[in-house]
Amino acid sequence: MVNVVETTDESIFQTYKRYPVVLVRGKGCLVWDDKGREYLDFLAGIAVCNLGHCHPAVVQAAKEQCDKLMHVSNYFYTEPQAALSELIIKNSFADRIFFCNSGAEANEAALKLARKYGQDHSDGKKYEIITMNYSFHGRTFATLTATGQDKFHHGFGPLLPGFKYVPFNDIKALRAAVSDITCAVMLEPIQAEGGVNMPVKGYLKSVRELCDEKGLLLIYDEVQVGLGRTGKLFAYEYAGVAPDIMTLAKAIGGGLPGGAMLAGKTVAETFTTGSHATTFGGNPVVMAAGVATMKVLLEGSVLENCRTMGAYFMEQLEKFKAKYPQFVKEIRGAGLIIGMETTLDGRDIVSRCLEKGLIINFTRDTVLRFLPPLIVEKQHIDRCMQVLDEIFAAL
Ligand SMILES: *Cc1c(COP(=O)(O)O)cnc(C)c1O
Repeated sequence: MVNVVETTDESIFQTYKRYPVVLVRGKGCLVWDDKGREYLDFLAGIAVCNLGHCHPAVVQAAKEQCDKLMHVSNYFYTEPQAALSELIIKNSFADRIFFCNSGAEANEAALKLARKYGQDHSDGKKYEIITMNYSFHGRTFATLTATGQDKFHHGFGPLLPGFKYVPFNDIKALRAAVSDITCAVMLEPIQAEGGVNMPVKGYLKSVRELCDEKGLLLIYDEVQVGLGRTGKLFAYEYAGVAPDIMTLAKAIGGGLPGGAMLAGKTVAETFTTGSHATTFGGNPVVMAAGVATMKVLLEGSVLENCRTMGAYFMEQLEKFKAKYPQFVKEIRGAGLIIGMETTLDGRDIVSRCLEKGLIINFTRDTVLRFLPPLIVEKQHIDRCMQVLDEIFAAL
């Protein structure tokens, strides 16, 4: 039998710093390694398994579709693609959707759409896109360029021209950055990878107003915070204003790889036959899994559970902050995307959690990030708090 760790370390590009665990099985909020050890997954894959691992409805839908048809080209119609488009559009601001395979691809499509719209409406003059410092939009060249963090850019220059960065939550800086060549503003309604940074009250509304005033498209990257993560189907619902273009991915296929870019009617008309395409986007198996995922999200009590458990988790973390004021600086988040800013080395804490059977993650070196499945129960949160308490008590 293949030695998993040895072979992986020798054969696969060393682009990930992996933890020394081989995972073989998952169910709900739990995963198991090859030695039968159980872990509580408060990362939900990586913000992917919103309904938990291997949700029975999703597994069944994917299996049934596998038996029927696994791939056809987008030159043809398929039932699962139509069904998922209807489910998502009916519950969003958008009129049209483009299916792809990942978050980066969804954002790539959004950037292309925004540029083409800008150029079509300005005799080719408008192409610049303003994004935020500490944003994260993906690793392809356009999305890497859109990502406002130097550490990801290092060594890959020259980047794509036509991008500009401003601080998140700074409407004055954004206004000052807009020029004759600006066509769009792109942001995450909650910055996830950049440290779970929340928008200040009124910010997203001001951005919308500025975009309307200047004739700019507003793009929301909801790859991580969309599809229920914040306790609403889409995070923009909290802001009370909708974007012109929105991207989704991570949770869309219930664990299978997928992505989507959405827009209202007028903006969507910018893309005509041949403007954009993908081989695998809208794959029937992924779409069938997506339909099952959306149905559970919409029909069940998952969103409500996300809000209730999110509030309970926050409450416990606030108590924890009061108990360890020397280590915990701030708790922030919405629904079940929560960041705990500490004075500690995030990697060290995450490793200690893993040793105690808890999977979490960190960003910006010191921010512990919690992204449990939206079906999480009180007992899971209590178990997470217990592990954190054992670790912090021993520091
Ligand atoms: C994960 C993520 C992406 C990139 O998605 P991939 O599927 O890894 O390409 C883009 N934007 C946000 C906000 C993300 O969290």
